[in-house]
Amino acid sequence: MPGDNGKGVEQDVVIIGAGAAGIAAARHLQTIRPDLAILLLEAGDRLGGRAWTVGLPGDIALDLGCGWLHGARTNAWTGLAGEVGLTVDRTPAPWNGGRRLQRDDAETHAAQQAIGAYFERLDSHEGDDTDLAAMLEPGNSWNGQIRAIGTYITGAELERSSVVDYNRYDPGPGPDWRVREGYGTLISRYGRPVPARLGVEVTRINHRHAGRIDLETNQGGISARAVLVTVSTNVLAAGRIAFDPPLPEKIEAAARLPLGLADKLFLGLATPEALPADTHMLGSTSRAATGTYQLRPLGAPVVEAYFAGDLAHDLEREGKEAALAFAGDELAAQFGADIRTQLSVAAISAWAAAPHIGGSYSYAEPGASDLRGVLAAPHDERIFFAGEACSRSRYSTAHGAYETGVAAADLITGSLSKNQ
Ligand SMILES: Cc1cc2nc3c(=O)[nH]c(=O)nc-3n(C[C@H](O)[C@H](O)[C@H](O)COP(=O)(O)OP(=O)(O)OC[C@H]3O[C@@H](n4cnc5c(N)ncnc54)[C@H](O)[C@@H]3O)c2cc1C
Repeated sequence: MPGDNGKGVEQDVVIIGAGAAGIAAARHLQTIRPDLAILLLEAGDRLGGRAWTVGLPGDIALDLGCGWLHGARTNAWTGLAGEVGLTVDRTPAPWNGGRRLQRDDAETHAAQQAIGAYFERLDSHEGDDTDLAAMLEPGNSWNGQIRAIGTYITGAELERSSVVDYNRYDPGPGPDWRVREGYGTLISRYGRPVPARLGVEVTRINHRHAGRIDLETNQGGISARAVLVTVSTNVLAAGRIAFDPPLPEKIEAAARLPLGLADKLFLGLATPEALPADTHMLGSTSRAATGTYQLRPLGAPVVEAYFAGDLAHDLEREGKEAALAFAGDELAAQFGADIRTQLSVAAISAWAAAPHIGGSYSYAEPGASDLRGVLAAPHDERIFFAGEACSRSRYSTAHGAYETGVAAADLITGSLSKNQ
């Protein structure tokens, strides 16, 4: 019976946020404790959070958020795709032997060598934490390209993020695959069996009273025995949810694990054959502020442009015409000016401006990597935390978010059993 401590508590567990972590936690709780009354509250108008697929006519699925099943052989979502009737596509990723538009000349080899040497320096770094820019070789002519790659990885300029955190990243074994119908489709479909309310923004968590937690939302109050918070670090750090009494260590941890920014622009192609299918292209091999392009991903008649770091912030602010012009210039430099007449905006993300998310994926400031553990630790065995930023080694990924959700659900059931 809900609130079986007899104090009129409405729910056993309220989960805040219907992204990968919240959905994973809810489904796991449903499996291991079907007797519990659980409710998922989502401020937005859809399930999925940073997993979001939009469709084009002809069954074309475009992922505005996560797209790659990293560590695909051991990624929990890979198996779940089949369970919910979706198809995993195993075409190799560009960084794993997939097709790339790249000359096989001395310049390309020199760039590869410089990039390889940079990442080796990162891997072998010992001692105090520092930022990713400190590992650059001053004056190396490939630093622009290294900086560009760094922003795709962390969503931030190299100066901002931690080497120790980078070295802890481990998505697990396996290549990177995709879900044909979209990663966002997979995560939202997996969430369907969960009792959820959309458009409900939690604004306050009052945990002053023993035996119950009172939540304030834009749709009224609700009480629970345990609460799982899965909102992004930028939402937490901005104080969008007030904890009463306050939990300053959580807010400080979130602030030092901010979200980097990566945005996607999908360009419709009037004549798809104008470009090769499933081929990767880097906008510029020398500039840091450049896009990375997946031409006709999975054969679709689109180009997927990916912008990160300061460039993504600038283009997001300037709007979709500016992003189209930027991508048009970079594609024209490769394919000739006529390619511009082929291109139109099919879909575009603006994750920094997304009101309940505020960015793309978390990075750690230098010295802040251990704060992932501080963020993940339960408070008072009643307020639990999950989400990609809580993962020590799979942060920034949808399967890392999944794993933190499942882990939190296990802790919640342990605590509820103790306090029955
Ligand atoms: C452009 C881009 C590309 C990416 N590429 C990949 C990739 O290829 N592979 C990969 O694995 N990962 C990728 N990621 C990262 C991945 O999408 C995220 O790590 C993951 O989806 C985060 O899930 P989460 O549950 O932690 O958080 P979220 O998805 O942010 O879920 C939190 C939810 O909480 C809701 N919320 C916020 N505030 C409140 C409130 N007050 N009350 C109620 N609800 C609230 C939000 O609306 C949101 O739905 C990418 C992300 C982006 C943006």
